[in-house]
Amino acid sequence: MSRIVYLNGDYVPEQDARISIFDRGFLFSDAVYEVTAVLNGKLLENEGHIARLVRSCRELKLSLPVTPAELDAIQRELIARNQLREGAVYLQLSRGTTGDREFDFPPAGTPPTLTLFTQARPVINNAKAINGIRVVTLEDIRWHRRDIKTVGLLAPCLAKEYAHAQGADDAFLVENGLITEGSACNAWIVTPAGTLVTRPLSNDILHGITRRSLLMLAETHAIPFEERAFSVEEAYAAREAFISSATTFIWPVIGIDGRTVGDGVPGPVTRALRAIYVDMALRATA
Ligand code: PLP
Repeated sequence: MSRIVYLNGDYVPEQDARISIFDRGFLFSDAVYEVTAVLNGKLLENEGHIARLVRSCRELKLSLPVTPAELDAIQRELIARNQLREGAVYLQLSRGTTGDREFDFPPAGTPPTLTLFTQARPVINNAKAINGIRVVTLEDIRWHRRDIKTVGLLAPCLAKEYAHAQGADDAFLVENGLITEGSACNAWIVTPAGTLVTRPLSNDILHGITRRSLLMLAETHAIPFEERAFSVEEAYAAREAFISSATTFIWPVIGIDGRTVGDGVPGPVTRALRAIYVDMALRATA
């Protein structure tokens, strides 16, 4: 069934949505995006995603053509029109175009391109959430503003491709021997002493909305945590590891570079934290 998508003020069947080949999102990756999970037909943690979008726009001097409240209404309208119960809403804002390929920013007042679409996928009962995934480590070759959620995602695509070629599900990206994050997720370990560890916020990683909530939930549930960088060797020796993102919530990592993490099955801290997050998510979208 064809989806109804949103393009610059209109709700249209996906095959009717047309964007200029000169759009700067297409030519230069001059665009930002957000992905908000949908559960029970409702948006999850959307305030955080919209706040991050506003920040990404500010960092790139991109103007948002609608207010956060209007954006939220567009997202909800798309969910309704597509009868989406579980999955995600993808949102992208590009700097538009003057109708040619020019590096210079277009003059003020040039309309940006705002597109949104829905994706149906299992979030709660996902086999990877239950069984875990295997990752491989790989040099992080991305640019130095990973805190801005831009559509310049070729490096993560290459990382996923590399992981799949190795028979793994995903990649942990490494810079100076330290893990930054996953190809499209934040990376976590549980130390042999039982402490959760994830890299602190900086320009080196995307400031995950799920990451932030997990830290708050860990605090509430008295699960000890540290925000600090960790090495590949520390990840090999970890008792547990997992990834977090809006559409995965938490997926256990049961293997890194062909080595078994902990007992080779999703660990108790990972499972408990996922259950806590799922509980919060179900309540928030009930
Ligand atoms: N890090 C990267 C590079 C990502 O692409 C994502 C999500 O797409 C995340 C982390 C997780 O962020 P969030 O929890 O807001 O989805």
